Amino acid sequence: MGMRWFVWGFFFAFLSGLSVSASAEDACPRNGTLGVSRTVEIDTTGGPGFGMEHYKAYDFLQDKEVVLTFDDGPQKYSTEAVLKALADECVKATFFSIGKMALGYPEIIREVSKAGHTVGTHTWSHKAIGKLKTFDDGKAEIERGVSAVHRAVGGPIAPFFRFPTLVDTPEAVAYLGKRNIAMFSTDIDSVDYKPQTVDHLIKSVMAKLDKRGKGIILMHDIHKRTAQALPIILAQLKAKGYKIVHMTAKAPVVTLAEFDEAIEKEAKGLPQVGAERPMSSVVKTVGGAAPKDDGAGDATEPEGMPTAPAEESVHAPDGGGSASAPLPAFPSAASPAKKSTVAPETAVPPGTTPGPGKQSSNEPSSAVSGNSGIATSPAASAASSATAPASPPLMTTASVVRTVSGEEAKLAAPAAPAAKSEAPQETTHKSLMERAKETWKLWFGE
Ligand SMILES: [Zn+2]
Repeated sequence: MGMRWFVWGFFFAFLSGLSVSASAEDACPRNGTLGVSRTVEIDTTGGPGFGMEHYKAYDFLQDKEVVLTFDDGPQKYSTEAVLKALADECVKATFFSIGKMALGYPEIIREVSKAGHTVGTHTWSHKAIGKLKTFDDGKAEIERGVSAVHRAVGGPIAPFFRFPTLVDTPEAVAYLGKRNIAMFSTDIDSVDYKPQTVDHLIKSVMAKLDKRGKGIILMHDIHKRTAQALPIILAQLKAKGYKIVHMTAKAPVVTLAEFDEAIEKEAKGLPQVGAERPMSSVVKTVGGAAPKDDGAGDATEPEGMPTAPAEESVHAPDGGGSASAPLPAFPSAASPAKKSTVAPETAVPPGTTPGPGKQSSNEPSSAVSGNSGIATSPAASAASSATAPASPPLMTTASVVRTVSGEEAKLAAPAAPAAKSEAPQETTHKSLMERAKETWKLWFGE
């Protein structure tokens, strides 16, 4: 009996060994890759904030731990290349997707989700919440983004949100708290939206990380240079002993019906390729009573969104129209490329309705980092009272962030909340806003 089981066991071990080696090409975890060292589950109740540049209540990363985040996508080619680089190293990231982009490229954001990455949101059209006339407009930007990305993914997404330009407002923070949506700032801003060589981008990200020792890295999956730099950044992370932490949500985001409906209308209102003929001439009821509103329009795909935009171009900000050639597929092994001559890309795919302003997707996503040392120096940031938590810490880090796989981090004692009480929230936000404006001026001279 025992011998028979032993033999069978041996046989099955042999079989499974065969199957592993057969699919080793894409199976994760995989030897020799960077991999995910720890997966954390975040309880977004009350809208906690993360990323020490703005929200200091929950510092859940250990030394050498890195979280990868990508904003503003999905985008044809660049997001796909980012996905490939992540898959090649068996790592998982978080994508803060723009509603319009997700509706524009639903098949790409679905790939992101299917690959096991976490999908959060980054507003509907990347408008700076604080610049809108009323918070109702801000709320609509947030909620339409959530509903649109949710619709495009066609399944649950995370209640994770990142403010465009990283600039929040007290109203928006309070609102997200009520909606149980967590806010994410950053620890390490790659500043990859600025034209630069791939080589420069790699070096500056690694230098910032080496200085800080750990952190949530902010990148953008809409930029070619980022997609080209990523494989090398991952290789260097591996060589230097950094570990990837994957953030997941304890529960998915709950969309609001009102905004789901608005997004349905938005998706249906878009021009459809090849839809010159009215529906009644394409689909005809031949038996039974014809419905008043034919249900044939209830496709899961947003109608009219290009599946493969013929002209994926990057536009110069003032209609320069120079770099209008389609982006080529990226090589999987990036090499330092010649400096991009391309002006800031626009985020909105062709076929979408009038979108955000020209500056929408490439204003500095980290509006306050440019002229402030706080983000790169842990000591300085701990001492700074001007950047006290935007929302009061409600719970301990351990109760908000839970390791669900990998080794549990030994968390440092929660930071003393003293600084917070000295700086009223309004002051905090005002000063953040002011610094953001200063940085904005630096980039755009507004
Ligand atoms: Zn952004």
